[in-house]
Amino acid sequence: MTRYIFITGGVVSSLGKGLLSASLGALLQARGHSVRLRKLDPYLNVDPGTMSPYQHGEVYVTDDGAETDLDLGHYERFTGVPSRQTDNVTSGRIYQTILERERRGDYLGGTVQVIPHVTNAIKEFATAQADGVDFMLCEIGGTVGDIESLPFMEAIRQLKNDLPRGHAIFIHLTLVPYIAAAGELKTKPTQHSVKELRSIGIQPDVLVCRTEHAIPEGERRKIALFCNVRDSAVIEARDVTSIYEVPIAYHKAGLDTEVLDAFGLESSGEEPDLSRWTDIMAAITEPEGEVKIAVVGKYTGLRDAYKSLSEALAHGGIANRVKVEVNWIESEVFEAENSVHHLEGVNGILVPGGFGERGSEGKIEAARFARERGVPYFGICFGMQMAVIEAARNMAGLGGAGSSEFNGCADPIVGLLTEWETDAGTETREEGGDLGGTMRLGAYPALLAEGSQVAGIYHATEISERHRHRYEVNVHYRDRLEGAGLKFSGMSPDGRLPEIVENPAHPWFIGVQFHPELKSKPFDPHPLFASFIEAAVKQSRLV
Ligand code: GLN
Repeated sequence: MTRYIFITGGVVSSLGKGLLSASLGALLQARGHSVRLRKLDPYLNVDPGTMSPYQHGEVYVTDDGAETDLDLGHYERFTGVPSRQTDNVTSGRIYQTILERERRGDYLGGTVQVIPHVTNAIKEFATAQADGVDFMLCEIGGTVGDIESLPFMEAIRQLKNDLPRGHAIFIHLTLVPYIAAAGELKTKPTQHSVKELRSIGIQPDVLVCRTEHAIPEGERRKIALFCNVRDSAVIEARDVTSIYEVPIAYHKAGLDTEVLDAFGLESSGEEPDLSRWTDIMAAITEPEGEVKIAVVGKYTGLRDAYKSLSEALAHGGIANRVKVEVNWIESEVFEAENSVHHLEGVNGILVPGGFGERGSEGKIEAARFARERGVPYFGICFGMQMAVIEAARNMAGLGGAGSSEFNGCADPIVGLLTEWETDAGTETREEGGDLGGTMRLGAYPALLAEGSQVAGIYHATEISERHRHRYEVNVHYRDRLEGAGLKFSGMSPDGRLPEIVENPAHPWFIGVQFHPELKSKPFDPHPLFASFIEAAVKQSRLV
């Protein structure tokens, strides 16, 4: 029977609850257990799909097409377990479900209330499709004390009693701040946070304390005493240099042992196999070289908007044992005259996914610079679309080439995707439809041309990658573009949607309509990122 680990946070946000969950998942796996991770988010948006990446960070897309919280990306990167639609739920979706039921008359005229209706729906989500894994890790978004998170806290409190004895534990992540003027670590915020948690009926089994300094034995005992946990259950979470060190650090701090102990499970006494993580850390801390990659995008001021991308670039570095230095450049920069010098000296240029016209001309310029100078170019989704527009304008002589995502253009090389095939049949979209839930989302297969560069990189001619787009490269322009030297080397199986383009006359110029960064893992770097960084290494030796 599946055991549940509920992870809550206190004091402040951004303490790394997602990384704690992901790392604990990895540690349990290293001890031979199966895991699944889940995020319950208290905000009212139905899903993160329409939330601004400025506010919320990237939207992470699963194989089954869910637009989810970026923490699910951490879960996959640390455990390799592909997330599903059922692994992320928000208050918005919970309420949507309940209100639909109410409208259908499912409640037979009864009063619909937070307890039990909302809490029951939360419990259903938390326990759905557990698939008999050994451990289900449920992270609750927000911090204790938020009004919004109360129904979630109540639901997990109840769930512990609904489950057989010993099948659920609570982990609480808090902050132990260092007050420089006093030269002391302060435990009071943690005490208050746990007090708040206990007032709603949740006694944490394990306390994880984020801190910049080692927690002295006396302070640890004080935390244990005031928070009603055993000394060994106060786990120190010191800042580390790389997120991939976190599993190792938590193991050293005793987290996995304490968690198993809280379930009354004997840890076999054997050390878990953490070689995967120590190997990764060796590649990160002892690189044999360095490459500079320019990422030309729009949300470059907020790194979280490109979380999976920056991780995938780092994974490409791990695969080649080099450090990847990323220059984040606002694409609008290239719309000014003589601005291209910003790209001098970089070993690779990546234009990532994006939406809307602003900055698009700058991205097209960046693609042109890469093509003309022979600098490795990697276009992802919007970045592929911009590279195709560049090729249409400057290689195929279609001066008016553009995208119908922008205002009026003579040759919509990139046009609205109105029809595509899914397992369930044909999907269609109308121009001017709703923004929420109208994209081509999730994993779709693509067929790669025999002998193409990408077929060589993947060592395969059939691949499956995750998508999130509304527009597509119009296949009717294929012949003209191929005649001009841009090869369509990956297509949807029905041959209607271009999935990959490459420029055979260039050392490494590849555009993909999907998001390979979503499937890259530090222990299994995505082949396109590994190959892109390899090309950047070669380029760095030329200059
Ligand atoms: N805006 C483009 C589209 O909708 C690209 C999307 C993306 O880069 N994810 O097709």
